[in-house]
Amino acid sequence: MRIAVFSTKPHDREFLDCGEHEFVYFEARLDPITAELANGFDGVCLFVNDMADESAIDALADGGCRLIALRCAGFNNVNIAAAARRGIVVCRVPEYSPYAVAEHAVGLLLALNRKIHRAHSRIREGDFSIHGLMGFDLHGKTVGVIGTGRIGAAFARIMLGFGCRVLAFDPSPDAVLAASGVEYKPLPELLGAADVISLHCPLLPQTEHLVRAETIAQMKPSVFLVNTSRGKLINTRDAVRALKDGRIAALGIDVYEEESGVFFENLSDTIIDDDVLMRLTTFPNVIVTSHQGFFTREAVVNIAATTLANIDEFAATGTCSNRV
Ligand code: NAD
Repeated sequence: MRIAVFSTKPHDREFLDCGEHEFVYFEARLDPITAELANGFDGVCLFVNDMADESAIDALADGGCRLIALRCAGFNNVNIAAAARRGIVVCRVPEYSPYAVAEHAVGLLLALNRKIHRAHSRIREGDFSIHGLMGFDLHGKTVGVIGTGRIGAAFARIMLGFGCRVLAFDPSPDAVLAASGVEYKPLPELLGAADVISLHCPLLPQTEHLVRAETIAQMKPSVFLVNTSRGKLINTRDAVRALKDGRIAALGIDVYEEESGVFFENLSDTIIDDDVLMRLTTFPNVIVTSHQGFFTREAVVNIAATTLANIDEFAATGTCSNRV
């Protein structure tokens, strides 16, 4: 099959170019205008910030596209109903390495708590003082995990290993995780009891702005909040307000509501227009990373292998077991 790959980065070429299909790489993100680049291709390969809305899907279908192969797990950026209407099969990589994202969430938490980002900057300036860098023992603290699927469960297990009490909220609790010591609680109880809250649920209409002024008010003001899931789980303006008022003690995010067009790009020569994002980067108790949670060697290898297998299966059968 001929596949147009959108939002290409160097590692995509390195890991995808080993199958029998022909891949043509575009750096552009998919949108209704760039969709024309895929005219005459059998399928497209998309990543998290490609926007396959209804008009992009119409343009793809008009150009002959029959497959959208997502090289990621989340599919909130694809209008699934529109794809079905136009006879386009959408498949994804449901699982590649839950450890990659879970360990990144732990990394954000540890860095924020022990102020490693600040210590690093100080030492580069020859400042070896430790004033202001005091953290706390995670051992014995209460960690709230929202969403205990593959990644949330991996995160919860790491926190159990740290000696934390782990509370969880998920509409589909995991009995094995509960047996290993994780306590499922109603969301308000988790929000009120947790010293650390980490978000691992998908972005759905019911989870959009799960963290907003009203739910922040239910948290301890000393809460450390980590989001490696999807940006829109947090109302960022409310989070900024809470940080300014001291109602969140620290925030670590690998995802951001308006990350599309910013994350993954080198914008160091440009004036960045997003005042909310730029305000976030000024807080000493905030760490922003650019959607790199998935980015381990193991995860990238698995993503490429499953994406190639998905395309193989579609080429052979016209459908795919990882169909969304
Ligand atoms: P998963 O499908 O295995 O688990 C999601 C869990 O969330 C499920 O157990 C589900 O029951 C639960 N859930 C659904 N609705 C909920 C709600 N209202 N409240 C609480 N929990 C709810 O998914 P996963 O593989 O663990 O991935 C989780 C999320 O991580 C993905 O949706 C994706 O957005 C994000 N992700 C981020 C990166 C990154 O690089 N930062 C990489 C991969 C995935």
